[in-house]
Amino acid sequence: QAKNSSRHRVCFFDPSMQATLLAHVKLEADLRQAQVDQQWQLYYQPQVNHCGAITGVEALLRWQHPERGMVSPGEFIPLLENSGLINDVGEWVLEEACNQLARWAQRPQLNELTISVNISPLQFRDEGFLNRVEGVFTRTQAPLCRLKLEVTESLFVEARDEAREKMLALKAQGVRFSLDDFGTGYSSLAYLAHLPLDQLKIDQAFVQQVLESKANAAIVESTIALAESLNLEVIAEGVENEAQQAWLLAHDCNAFQGYLFGRPATANAIEQLVLGD
Ligand code: C2E
Ligand code: MG
Ligand code: MG
Ligand code: MG
Repeated sequence: QAKNSSRHRVCFFDPSMQATLLAHVKLEADLRQAQVDQQWQLYYQPQVNHCGAITGVEALLRWQHPERGMVSPGEFIPLLENSGLINDVGEWVLEEACNQLARWAQRPQLNELTISVNISPLQFRDEGFLNRVEGVFTRTQAPLCRLKLEVTESLFVEARDEAREKMLALKAQGVRFSLDDFGTGYSSLAYLAHLPLDQLKIDQAFVQQVLESKANAAIVESTIALAESLNLEVIAEGVENEAQQAWLLAHDCNAFQGYLFGRPATANAIEQLVLGD
């Protein structure tokens, strides 16, 4: 591996790099096939309020690879972005989520659930994005006031005004925006006040260390205070145990997502959780 070689030697190429490159090329070909064969599945992870009641879910993409089984999005989302496939796959995700929202809208006890959908910055910046989204909204007739789009800080590092205009166009239809992985990006805080956001999502890296690290606790506390003063909702992701939840509750964070409340699961499993059967 390059990182094991001498500090002072510049390493341009070695066999392990070639293997990595080949694996990527193969995976990218497999991703094109996945889109053709629709090997995608959308899982949903519960989001709960201070009482533990499920108020909504985050949609998380899963890829059932014919030979490798379930591949994690951390591995394939960057490849989808590099190849431009993210536009088609992201549209599939949004359509699936909107169809689910439309179905839940017909069901007592499920009709107030929200769905949060992750949008890659590349997908959001694409010139065809708003048209694709319009198409999805028309086809699915989803209740848009229960749709949240999760964007990340990197979206606002460049072309911020353009992103803001697109957000405003979607907000005019009732769509809400959540800022995912808050605190892990490179952007400045100044942009926050100028964007039409509705929610800050505290990154799981901070949440998971909240009891062990004073620094992380300080970051989480400041984020909660910032959300409060900017009139934004705040949700903590990656809550894994009751001690973390208790700490968050004591610091005025009242919405949670994490393994403590449920792992990503099928829509059916979510329905059973909500309906209590
Ligand atoms: P994210 O949007 O920050 O999603 C949260 C990730 O944390 C999910 O991983 C979820 O399964 C995981 N998680 C939730 N609770 C816990 C917990 O208590 N402990 C731990 N250790 N992990 C927890 P997942 O599903 O592997 O997704 C990883 C990332 O891939 C997502 O991070 C998101 O950035 C991206 N992603 C997933 N689906 C989509 C999609 O449809 N479109 C786009 N553009 N990106 C997606
Ligand atoms: Mg997310
Ligand atoms: Mg996140
Ligand atoms: Mg994350």
